[in-house]
Amino acid sequence: VQGFAGAKVAVLGLGRSGLATARALQAGGAIPVCWDDNPAAREKAEAEGFVTADLLKHGAFDDIASLIVSPGIPHLYPDPNRVIAAAWAAGVPVDNDIGLFFRSFATADWAEHDTPPRVIAVTGSNGKSTTSALIHHILTEAGKPAQLAGNIGRGVLDIDPPEDGGVVVLELSSYQTDLARALTPDVAVFTNLSPDHLDRHGGMGGYFAAKRRLFAEGGPDRAVIGVDENEGRYLANQLSEGAADDRVIRVSADQKLTGPGWQVFARKGFLSEYRKGRQAASIDLRGVQGLPGAHNHQNACAAYAACRTLGLSPRVIEDAFHSFGGLPHRSQTIAQAGGVRYVNDSKATNVDSAAKALCAFDNIRWICGGLEKEGGLGGLLDALGSVKKAYVIGREAAHFALQLTGVEAEICTDMETAVTHAMAEAEEGDTVLLAPAAASFDQYDNFEQRGDDFTARVRAALGGA
Ligand code: ADP
Repeated sequence: VQGFAGAKVAVLGLGRSGLATARALQAGGAIPVCWDDNPAAREKAEAEGFVTADLLKHGAFDDIASLIVSPGIPHLYPDPNRVIAAAWAAGVPVDNDIGLFFRSFATADWAEHDTPPRVIAVTGSNGKSTTSALIHHILTEAGKPAQLAGNIGRGVLDIDPPEDGGVVVLELSSYQTDLARALTPDVAVFTNLSPDHLDRHGGMGGYFAAKRRLFAEGGPDRAVIGVDENEGRYLANQLSEGAADDRVIRVSADQKLTGPGWQVFARKGFLSEYRKGRQAASIDLRGVQGLPGAHNHQNACAAYAACRTLGLSPRVIEDAFHSFGGLPHRSQTIAQAGGVRYVNDSKATNVDSAAKALCAFDNIRWICGGLEKEGGLGGLLDALGSVKKAYVIGREAAHFALQLTGVEAEICTDMETAVTHAMAEAEEGDTVLLAPAAASFDQYDNFEQRGDDFTARVRAALGGA
């Protein structure tokens, strides 16, 4: 990180990204001053030789140039963070690793490359990881030097110096966009918006506002916007105002778009690109194994659009779709046996993503439940048409099951019971789907562990395949 040589920079939060930030600051000649409320995290930082200091102490910000906050730290809800408040009270700017990344990126040596590297940033409620990984995959297949970082892949401050013509694909969550002081991608992608993390952002308005910062004044040259919700339509219209007609590409997962603008949509399994009212390309997505379901067709459209802004041809992108393997824990087929398909979508931690998964398959034996998110399960009820039976896990399984009106639901509580019962009852043509519509923290460390547990139990039951 450049720009802080010789200066003290405070680092709040000493998890993976906090430590990476401290290292990057130090490498740029700054003096990191670290803090975490958790003594074990502080000890880890001290073991690496970093100075720690209580940032709530009187005068702690007297000689600090900036405060860098980890994305995991809530700063406004439920209560304003006291360290951040102290920094602002002392006139110290507050930023995060994403802000540092963009500021360093713009001023680094590689800005002088013949073909300066570009940054594509992807945000939205669902599909960020899939879309980012797909963009990265397409670029790599097209022979462009690409790196994947941010919320997926490496930490932003750990990327390699980009090569001439290189592209950095960044996945950015609302936790990362809300405090960053610089957000200047060349291309920004907004996949979709549905309620998530509302407690952290103080409601839907705050959540949308955090994501919208990626598209602020002076923001991206090109914006790829999913317009299937009001917020996306609003954003696309606002960004198009007075702009060149190729600034915004509108993306839809289920409707033919109208108007003369640049647009990419998927309908009935076909992706279409239109420009100036004319069809520019059409791709059959139905046989693309790694991207099943309408929600993945939305991701395909968004990735396609982002790659088109870099000048890739429809043909190259289509070929890359077919070699994309998909990501673990997202609509991932983990086994097929006896005419039954087993799908791990442990990443469906909210109602919308689970609803999308339920619409992507038929005859579903659905393993769901966990730590419920705010807002209830109302958004799911329309998606239960293909569910034969729900097998509910989680500490609050009974409460979860109670809300699933119109579908047979068994309270299983633990994964072992759910998998055993679903497998015993599955018939040819069924899909056993883990798509919890809830967070995992009541029973697991994270969604990966939950998905691995499901996968291991299924495979063991199938005979260690
Ligand atoms: P994110 O990084 O935004 O959480 P992922 O690609 O990891 O997105 O997918 C998260 C969950 O959402 C998975 O359960 C996946 O099946 C589902 N999903 C993926 N793409 C979409 C989409 N475009 N719309 C809704 N749900 C999606």
